[in-house]
Amino acid sequence: MRLKGKVAVITGGASGIGEASAKLFVENGAQVVIADIQDDHGNRLAQSLAPNACFFHCDVSKETDVSALVDYALEKHGRLDIVFSNAGIPGGLFSSMADVTLEDLERVISVNVRGAYLCTKHAARVMIGAKTRGSILLTSSMASVMAMPNGPSYTASKHAVLGIMKSAATDLAPHGIRVNCVSPAGVSTPMLIDAMKKSFPSFDKHCADEMLETTMELKGLTLEADDVAKSALFLCSDDARYISGHNLVIDGAFTSCKAFST
Ligand code: NAD
Repeated sequence: MRLKGKVAVITGGASGIGEASAKLFVENGAQVVIADIQDDHGNRLAQSLAPNACFFHCDVSKETDVSALVDYALEKHGRLDIVFSNAGIPGGLFSSMADVTLEDLERVISVNVRGAYLCTKHAARVMIGAKTRGSILLTSSMASVMAMPNGPSYTASKHAVLGIMKSAATDLAPHGIRVNCVSPAGVSTPMLIDAMKKSFPSFDKHCADEMLETTMELKGLTLEADDVAKSALFLCSDDARYISGHNLVIDGAFTSCKAFST
């Protein structure tokens, strides 16, 4: 019960890492507001976690939606302790810097960067106003510390998320608000499978697991959404009360081996 009595908002909460985090946060005593654009999935998940979760439709690229989301959480529960800004999209994989379209870049930036920025800004507004020693967590990616091959839009967006986290952690420290990132390697969620399907139509979860098991360094294991959720739980809990401005890369040593070796 590491989040007993806390109120958390999770964006992109209807699927994948967000869904696993919503379940784990509820198991640990939190009231969770699941925010997403997938209303059916989100409502179904909230019902399965009732009375400790509810769903709120929110497109993180729209400031009015994000502002309304944090205000809703505060009004409904009387407090807001945790904002986990996790919604994201992959952008066009297999497009090189020379042929990436401006439309693709703008779409990815509008969800991944504007979304992270707006969630952080409005979380800060509410937490500062209520004098809450809150925790803001952003999902970046191992693409925050290395280039995703043939994914320039996504790489640019996830480096930017890291910049938002560092700026916010610095600005909000005097208010007692912590800001961190989780940066996973590949997880076989709908996002990864859908992105791969665009290039390989028969790609499925089995292919994703096989691909991840053979490309990652830590043998015999694949990274699961639950693994990321457990890191998110730690960073959002009081166990991490002095951790702020940190990018927790969850990659089984992949970036240590690939990005920083000579
Ligand atoms: P997912 O597709 O299972 O979940 C993403 C969720 O975000 C979906 O429910 C989707 O509806 C929601 N979403 C998309 N656009 C939105 C918007 N504009 N407003 C609100 N919600 C929106 O994928 P996932 O893998 O769980 O992704 C979660 C986060 O993890 C993303 O930020 C992603 O970039 C990051 N990530 C994923 C991987 C991976 O391999 N799956 C690796 C590193 C980082």
